[in-house]
Amino acid sequence: MPLPLVFGVDGSFQVIESPTPPYKALGFVKTALFRIDQPALAQLDRDSPHPYALRDILTDSALYHATVFPLRHIAISGMSVYDAVRQTIFESVKDPQLSGEAMETLKWIAYEKWNGGGRDLPPFECPHCESQNATLPYNEEKGRCPDCGKELFITDMLGFHLEMAPDSAPDGVARDYMTIHETLLLFTGIRYFWEHNRDALRRSLFVKDGPLRIRAQYSKLVEPIRRFLAMARDAGIQVCVLGQEKSGAFADHLALIGDSAPIGSVFVPGHQYIREQIQHRPVAGAPYGKDTNYGAKVFVRLTDRHKMTLNIPTGEFVQDPTVANLIGAPQIFATLPTLLSSRYEDGLLPVELANAVASLSTYPSVQILTLFAESKAQGHAGKPSSP
Ligand SMILES: [Zn+2]
Repeated sequence: MPLPLVFGVDGSFQVIESPTPPYKALGFVKTALFRIDQPALAQLDRDSPHPYALRDILTDSALYHATVFPLRHIAISGMSVYDAVRQTIFESVKDPQLSGEAMETLKWIAYEKWNGGGRDLPPFECPHCESQNATLPYNEEKGRCPDCGKELFITDMLGFHLEMAPDSAPDGVARDYMTIHETLLLFTGIRYFWEHNRDALRRSLFVKDGPLRIRAQYSKLVEPIRRFLAMARDAGIQVCVLGQEKSGAFADHLALIGDSAPIGSVFVPGHQYIREQIQHRPVAGAPYGKDTNYGAKVFVRLTDRHKMTLNIPTGEFVQDPTVANLIGAPQIFATLPTLLSSRYEDGLLPVELANAVASLSTYPSVQILTLFAESKAQGHAGKPSSP
């Protein structure tokens, strides 16, 4: 039986930089979480879904988040760019448009609040004095560094400041914020059902555009996420989460091997195969994805026209996963055929819808962004979206 409740999450970012000195730069990030029920999916014209039909479906069932960061050469009274970005990240995660739910989710993951007890925050590097002992009391959003006494935000735990200089932040800060916020939106849905309606959680599929991966220092959220998914599975609730990768080394590899795979086949590559055949790197060293991925890579050839690179969680890390390790695999594979888009050969409707949402006027146009940046700047898209 296909899962009747399908949620999609997506984000995009754009950096606008003025082409002349002092090269002011702003980073814009938007993310969305939306719900598409099977009846709505069934009504959609799969050959050419009209953008306004999509909008109607999504109007009453979507959460939107948008924010802007000063990245370079933007004056904020009394504050360095470094502190302004830290502050903006903290305030953005608390976004009142989302009733603070994304912040609740960050706390839920960081303090592992699902099992009733919770845990202390692991120590992180203080953004002020570089002490490695920075932490916060249980469930707090703000506090003081035990060594220098300056203010800490829970979002400092993620380590955005490790990539910033006092007066500039790289474009990557906007991209990494987008990834973190997409993950928080995804788990806001999961947390809500976990707390209020576990039966609905059993009937839901959460679909994310892109890999189930959080890179570098931000990967601190990966272990708690794995522990939650494993704990829920062991408690009898298969939380169904799916990522789709449409670009990158894994998608390129699928393009090579996909056409010769039998229809209806599923291939879950292990560490050695990924290192040798996809990354072309030595097999020795850390197991692939151990620190950063909360989903295993899964190649699927569903029909003669639909082949996909998916990510599906396994709970605890598995170096060489099989289909049996994939959480909710039977439910997910039963739902996939209902999500196929005939317009986009290898696309899943929730992902295509997310991209369509991103192109609707609920988001500022590049022109407005440019106006906002006070110059005739050329923007470059962080992530391409479909027309
Ligand atoms: Zn300190």
